[in-house]
Amino acid sequence: MSSRELVVLGTASQVPTRQRAQNGYLLRWDGEGLLFDPGEGTQRQMLLAGVAASEITRICLTHFHGDHCLGVPGIVQRLSLDRVAHPVRAHFPASGHEYFRRLRNATAFYEVADLREEPVHGDGPVAAGDFGALTARRLEHSVESFGYRLTEPDGVRMLPERLAEAGITGRLVREVRREGSVTVDGRRVPLEAVSEPRQGQSFAFVMDTRLCDGVFALAEGVDMLVIESTFLAAEAELARHVGHLTAGEAGRVARECGVRTLVLTHFSQRYPDPRRFRDEAAEEFGGEIVVAEDLMTVPVPKRR
Ligand SMILES: [Zn+2]
Repeated sequence: MSSRELVVLGTASQVPTRQRAQNGYLLRWDGEGLLFDPGEGTQRQMLLAGVAASEITRICLTHFHGDHCLGVPGIVQRLSLDRVAHPVRAHFPASGHEYFRRLRNATAFYEVADLREEPVHGDGPVAAGDFGALTARRLEHSVESFGYRLTEPDGVRMLPERLAEAGITGRLVREVRREGSVTVDGRRVPLEAVSEPRQGQSFAFVMDTRLCDGVFALAEGVDMLVIESTFLAAEAELARHVGHLTAGEAGRVARECGVRTLVLTHFSQRYPDPRRFRDEAAEEFGGEIVVAEDLMTVPVPKRR
């Protein structure tokens, strides 16, 4: 079972349809659960997808249009109802702080959960931890909008046979990792002799925006890119006008940035056949394309 995966809760832009709930995505990343852009109905979609409120460690909002945040009141109250014991951090554009306050205080409830507001003021680091670094970049939409990127630093993978040969066991394994070398029976063993480099994994979440530098900066070299493709090429002019992407543009970003798995989502209700999104993205991008469906789970691809 993968411990790093995307659970798709909703895939509709603007309004829900019979097949699609409004936005909502949970990224499971080891012990972290990052809930992105919970739209209306996210709480019930979590139930259907098998996501517990206690899995949420962060709520990340790209912007304050309803389809990206109207699920916040339900989620916030559920955290308290379920007595989620760990702190939950909320990241959102600082310019919309008043909206966030209203959402979290939408109705009366008995608040016991520890929800910490950590607004995003501009490009740069948002949080850091065992998961790596969470950063934000400004996007271009009709209201202030930020995309997010999770970057795990490169590390090393210990090689059990080499460790055994060198006589390194127990606390010495931790020591060689921490110190870069260890001395066994008077002999110095460097970390490189008992390990190999391990490339960090990365993930980007790009919602409502037209093409801009921020999109490319977020998506550069990521293992998984979740990106809005509200429109198809026929509506490219409209997309630019209202600050959205087409499936072809999303494909172009994936190609130019060397993305591994491209997840298309946030579809306009005007298109009944989702295959067309794949077709248009595939004209630009030859890698793996997932056209998101509600309640599907997409594993972060294995390390290179
Ligand atoms: Zn929007």
